[in-house]
Amino acid sequence: MLLAWYQTHARSLPWRDAPEPYATWLSEVILQQTQVATGTAYWHRFLKHYPTVEDLASAPIESVMGLWKGLGYYSRARNLHAAARSVVHDRRGELPILAKDWQQLPGVGEYTAAAIASICHGEPVPVVDGNVQRVLARLFDILDPVDRKAGRDAIRSWSEALISHEDPGSSNQAWMELGATVCKPKNPQCGECPVQVGCLARKRDTWSARPVKQAKKPPVAMTVLFLVSLRHHKGAWEWWVERRPERGIWGGLECFPATMKEEPAPTEWNGKAALGPFQHALTHRKLTGWFVLDAGAHIAPDGQEKQHGEWVQLEDDERAWPRMVEKVLSELRAWTVKN
Ligand code: SF4
Repeated sequence: MLLAWYQTHARSLPWRDAPEPYATWLSEVILQQTQVATGTAYWHRFLKHYPTVEDLASAPIESVMGLWKGLGYYSRARNLHAAARSVVHDRRGELPILAKDWQQLPGVGEYTAAAIASICHGEPVPVVDGNVQRVLARLFDILDPVDRKAGRDAIRSWSEALISHEDPGSSNQAWMELGATVCKPKNPQCGECPVQVGCLARKRDTWSARPVKQAKKPPVAMTVLFLVSLRHHKGAWEWWVERRPERGIWGGLECFPATMKEEPAPTEWNGKAALGPFQHALTHRKLTGWFVLDAGAHIAPDGQEKQHGEWVQLEDDERAWPRMVEKVLSELRAWTVKN
């Protein structure tokens, strides 16, 4: 029933036509936090620049990050690149086949591994994403929170019981597609749903309360001070940009030196020009940003500068900035020069 529905209702997506492991892997990573319409354009771009895993592995990380620009969650790009290198160096360029082997690669979790292994190699491992979670929590009217062990176990057992062993790839995609297009968070189209007859949440009218989720902690309010050093050099304005450490917030991105504090209102720029506040929400933090024109005391003496960062022309558009900075770059360019 569900598979028949999928054959006629599946959206036509380019990576579905003739699933191939490398292209499927790319699509899964790109779509993790990205809408299909935006992700499709990036998927085409990536395949054009890096048609094979070898091409991706031999590309400089800066180029990969540059191509990722605008997608956010840059750790995905870093992991993708590291995983491609691992495939080339440790596996002689051969992509894994089984889900458990895919999971050995950086950034490939249970979900991505199951998706690739089932779609490209027919391994009967269920894929459980947010869409599948919602459909199953409604279908079986699961009361346990799906972000806690009991709820997760219930969803997993049902997904294992329901997967088709004849066509696991289509079966997984069908459940995901049902959640994405019919059993939506608000206003599910129950009248169009291929599993409506067996749906307990529909029968009991509990769908709006499923899936149950544990109350989340509110995000922590934090203030970020970006220190902007400026110089006029060989007829052009330049500012000082550093690469952030790989681990932690905005890992590997380029940015002004930044400090983050829990106090709500910083006062320490004493007389220096400051631009802000700018609000930006992350998953666990609510950020308020200020840009402060700084004398540049943090910059190492001449000759050591390159170890930490570099002077970059204001108009240089090749950087992978944190989204919070990228949003205000043009305002910042005008403001720094004026001050
Ligand atoms: Fe979701 Fe409605 Fe289908 Fe139940 S019948 S799975 S609530 S769309």
